[in-house]
Amino acid sequence: MRVRNHGHTHVCHTFVTLPPDRTLTSAPLPQGEGFELMRPDLLQTLALRVAERERAGLLRRVRTLDQARSTRVMVDGRELLNFCSNDYLGLAQDPRIIKALQETANECGVGSTAAHLVCGHRREHARLEEALCEWTGRAAALLFSSGWLANLGTLQALLDHNGVCVQDKLNHASQLDAARLAGATLKRYPHGDAAGASRQLAACAEQPALLATDGVFSMDGDVAPLAELAALCRRDGATLMVDDAHGLGVLGPNGAGSVAEAGLSQHDAPVLMATLGKSVGCMGAFVAGSRALIDGLTQFARTFVYTTAMPPALAATATAAVRIARDEDWRRDKLQALIARFRAGAAQLGLPLANSRTAIQPIVLGDAGSTVMAAQALEAAGLLVTAIRPPTVPQGKARLRVTLSAAHMEADVDRLLDALAYLPR
Ligand SMILES: *Cc1c(COP(=O)(O)O)cnc(C)c1O
Repeated sequence: MRVRNHGHTHVCHTFVTLPPDRTLTSAPLPQGEGFELMRPDLLQTLALRVAERERAGLLRRVRTLDQARSTRVMVDGRELLNFCSNDYLGLAQDPRIIKALQETANECGVGSTAAHLVCGHRREHARLEEALCEWTGRAAALLFSSGWLANLGTLQALLDHNGVCVQDKLNHASQLDAARLAGATLKRYPHGDAAGASRQLAACAEQPALLATDGVFSMDGDVAPLAELAALCRRDGATLMVDDAHGLGVLGPNGAGSVAEAGLSQHDAPVLMATLGKSVGCMGAFVAGSRALIDGLTQFARTFVYTTAMPPALAATATAAVRIARDEDWRRDKLQALIARFRAGAAQLGLPLANSRTAIQPIVLGDAGSTVMAAQALEAAGLLVTAIRPPTVPQGKARLRVTLSAAHMEADVDRLLDALAYLPR
């Protein structure tokens, strides 16, 4: 019995054939020894896929952190220095943000109790949307409960089976899945290749097209050629969507993101999406753009319409965090100084640095097994750095995904460099 699953073929050994006098259509099947249903069991198939992943040395495990105090985390009774969170500005544990959450929870409770269109949209949500518009220079914004939901809902509202979604090969999984779920034709171009994107658009000149790209690529840390992509969208009548999950707070004037850094207006980059769970240190996401875009998403983005609004206290907390992220330029300056320090040190060690000027500084080691061993060696030295393996990254491109934060100290970066110097190579 062969079961096709995600392009891999799995052989199942568990199915027993029926006696010759039985056909598959005759029912009911006799119970008891010698008889088993022919229908593949879903959980068994899933277990086989897990076993296959384990054999390939690619099994993922959830690690439980007993405690996190800024960059110091407790795992299995040991304190580790954390180099894998997306808390780029060090806001997730900022005392002012914690206080905002406590105080607003006292005021407005915990659950929003309903979707935004029912009775879940409170003053706190409206204020957060306003703050996000101001920050990103957009006319309107719409909150989603996560970045995944924002991407799913937006692409599904904008595209149907007549549409084409042109995407960078290294876009986040949520963008790829969103295009598939929308039923659109998904066309991928080589990473960062605006000319490749242009060819994909030219091949479907009659169809409505969305060109979707990450602003900063989540596993590589490099920045998309946004000005070029905007220019070709303008020329070819396509709509540009930028997922700035890793650029917001980190790049651009006042941390307004990669799109602002590239000088792109709402007209140039009409669909801007970003999350609140990374540099903003909270949870949730938003899409910002014209009033017409937001009105349309309010009607048709199913992941907005049919889901519970984020807790109002969290919205108020995120509003406080946005203010800090916007106003405290020293956090970005410090982060940039740490990035420069790390890159200089890693270059001196001859480590394979990526072409990144952002907080994401991957060290691509290639082989999944040695990357896991490197992560284990770092952990033995008191450092938490995740090994990122296929299928999250392409085959042969396993890496240590080092992320830096304004909450790190120079001495922390030096400790990481010391440990990296001792990795067996
Ligand atoms: C993290 C991330 C998302 C998903 O955001 P969540 O709020 O974590 O669901 C989407 N796009 C990119 C590029 C991301 O890095």
